Amino acid sequence: MPFVITDPCIGTKDHACVDVCPVDCIHPRKDEAEFEQASMLYIHPDECIDCGACVPACPVAAIYDSVDSTPSTQQGLVEANAVYRAGDSGAVAKAEAIVKAHMAAHADLMAVPPAERAAAHAKG
Ligand code: SF4
Ligand code: SF4
Repeated sequence: MPFVITDPCIGTKDHACVDVCPVDCIHPRKDEAEFEQASMLYIHPDECIDCGACVPACPVAAIYDSVDSTPSTQQGLVEANAVYRAGDSGAVAKAEAIVKAHMAAHADLMAVPPAERAAAHAKG
């Protein structure tokens, strides 16, 4: 089961997870053209080896260790992680559309500062 990035990354996107991932499966990286366009980063499920290194690296607890452990409010973002693949034509737009829909549907969570958003997931 792959690891999943969720909405505390929106507004944080500090790249810490990319720097520790041993298989370079978190994108877009800062040196990729789509980094500025992306609201958050994505873990590709086919490439993640479930090593767990990214979880303690994330300052806002945005990363869950499986689809099953991802809270219900965040399940829509599972698909955003899966659909994005660096450099694929149209992939960033598809992922961003999912993220924008998530943000619209969860205005309550978006109003919580990123550092406190993961704690709000548990209450949802
Ligand atoms: S669990 Fe490991 S392989 Fe998967 S995204 Fe995190 S650091 Fe990369
Ligand atoms: S460490 Fe967390 S907040 Fe930073 S880019 Fe990765 S998932 Fe996003």
